[in-house]
Amino acid sequence: MEKQLQLFDPMIIRKDFPVLSQKVNNQPLVYFDNAATTQKPQIVVDALTNYYQNYNANVHRGVHHLSQVATAAFEESRDTIRRYINAAYTHEIILTRGSTESINLVASTWGRQNVKEGDEILITELEHHSNIVPWQMLCEEKKARLRVIPINDDGSLNIDAFHNLLNSKTKLLAITHVSNSLGTVIPLKEIISAAHSNNTLVLVDGAQALSHLKVDVIDLDCDFYAFSAHKVYGPMGIGGLYGKEKLLNEMPPYQGGGEMISTVSFEKTVYNELPFKFEAGTPNAGGTIAFASALNYLKGLGIDAIEAYEKELLDYATQRLLEKSNIRIVGTAPGKAAIISFLIDKIHPYDAGTILDQMGIAVRTGNHCTQPLMQRFGIQGTIRASLAFYNTKSEIDSLINGISKVEELFL
Ligand code: PMP
Repeated sequence: MEKQLQLFDPMIIRKDFPVLSQKVNNQPLVYFDNAATTQKPQIVVDALTNYYQNYNANVHRGVHHLSQVATAAFEESRDTIRRYINAAYTHEIILTRGSTESINLVASTWGRQNVKEGDEILITELEHHSNIVPWQMLCEEKKARLRVIPINDDGSLNIDAFHNLLNSKTKLLAITHVSNSLGTVIPLKEIISAAHSNNTLVLVDGAQALSHLKVDVIDLDCDFYAFSAHKVYGPMGIGGLYGKEKLLNEMPPYQGGGEMISTVSFEKTVYNELPFKFEAGTPNAGGTIAFASALNYLKGLGIDAIEAYEKELLDYATQRLLEKSNIRIVGTAPGKAAIISFLIDKIHPYDAGTILDQMGIAVRTGNHCTQPLMQRFGIQGTIRASLAFYNTKSEIDSLINGISKVEELFL
């Protein structure tokens, strides 16, 4: 443990993130909005700059030098992403704009092809709007039924209800890995295995998982896994979808255009092979390369060390918050990730967030794109502090002081 802590010194790590050393409202910035987006280490910024400064070219299309360098770096990055989540084949990694697009891709292609009238799609009460609305749209179009697995009061999934809801009509389970609002971590292996025994495919919304946990898609045996680079210290506008080769091969393309074709005539188009079949248009090559550099950076730190340190931070933050009599933590599932939603007495989260911002503390307030989840708890929203490995206990102390100030002003 001592060795790990020694290795994992957040004060040294913070030097990799120039954005963190600024002042906001004359106070040192405390960035606790990591579930919305993470900050980027200099190495990621450099990878992006290096791409545009030195080898920007359209990939896959040119015989010229720059295009070949860019293509090699782009495809190598796809393989880095594959290795990070332990997919079997590089062509099982489809590059998209992020989790939202990845989920929409599956809904529009696999969903349209396979979901029929009367079929059921299962989601959970924890889902982000991105993993609700695409399925709602599909169900509306196909006259299928969207069913929702309830959660328990601590924010954990109601496993008995899940088993009861699974039936012969359940075509797909679309489920988050880590809840962006509560931090709940879903016991996916058990759930995926039960779904598969029922011939139900499983799509995992991994937007919040890659930054906090080791993800191994082969071990999970999920059918699809969606993720976003910007949630895992990479750039915005890039992300991916892992899909099992067989399923991806059977699915129709998502969008039509360049890259996704093999041959085109006015009479007939032959689609390209995987992964290009799903990647119409010029890809975000620079973003993909920078994404891979973020994953390499995380690998260098070690996801186990990150997990251990974030747990220490989460425990500290929880304990400090609970020392205050006015705090209600929403979401206390065992084994949760370092995301804490809370309320301060009857104070509106927006008011609290505004005062905290004046003290340089960035938290998220509102429904966190999980309106049905907020309704489940009978609240409008929460204050959310979502932590990352570059956060420190002293920043948590600043948050606690900030909350005292909020209490002084509003109670
Ligand atoms: N799912 C979850 C659980 C999320 O937290 C988010 C982002 N807040 C998304 C999906 C959507 O991700 P993106 O906006 O990067 O597509």
